[in-house]
Formats: sequence, structure tokens, C-alpha cells
Amino acid sequence: MYDKSDEELAKAEETIGTFPVEVIERFLSSVEARRPCEACGHSSWAHIPSYPLFQMHCTNAQSLVLQVLPIFCQQCGNTRLFNASRIDYFVRMEIQGDKDAAKNA
Ligand SMILES: [Zn+2]
Repeated sequence: MYDKSDEELAKAEETIGTFPVEVIERFLSSVEARRPCEACGHSSWAHIPSYPLFQMHCTNAQSLVLQVLPIFCQQCGNTRLFNASRIDYFVRMEIQGDKDAAKNA
């Protein structure tokens, strides 16, 4: 979860919101995001083209914002949300091999 100023959030969006589709696909595969649905058992998942991120605002503090990537069960509509900061970590560690990210995790 983020507790950042609007400027910091805009910068984070700029950075996190621009993952190439291939990177998102690699992340989703690495965490087995499309394993059978916990609600209905089906394994068919959909997403919004280009994988836009969504923001969830805390009801008690508007400065607390969570950026998430949703995928949807095509059978029942169950929605899985993946934290964008974890995708960012995946990019830095698994794709770019950022050693500093490992120290700060
Ligand atoms: Zn389902």
C-alpha cells in the first residue's frame, strides 16, 4: 500500500503503469494467476486489453492508494487483484536482475 503525495503517486503511475503486455504475461505466469477459480473451479480468465492498472483508495485516508491489476473469471466473474508494486518488484528482480531490490524487499 502506498502513502504518497499526488506527485509521488503520479510518478509511480508513470513508472508502474507502463509495463509492456509481455511483462505482465510473464508475471501472471510466474504466480500461476490463472490457476482454477476458487469460487467456481473453472480455469478461463479474461483481462482488459493492455492490462490497465486500477487504483483503490482507502476510505479512511485518501492518500492511501493501492494500485492493482485485475483479471476476471469468465465463468463466474470472480476477480483477482494483483498489487502493482509486486509486479514492479518482479520486473526489477526477475527481468532486470536488480540486486538493490532484493536488499530492500
Ligand atoms: Zn469462477
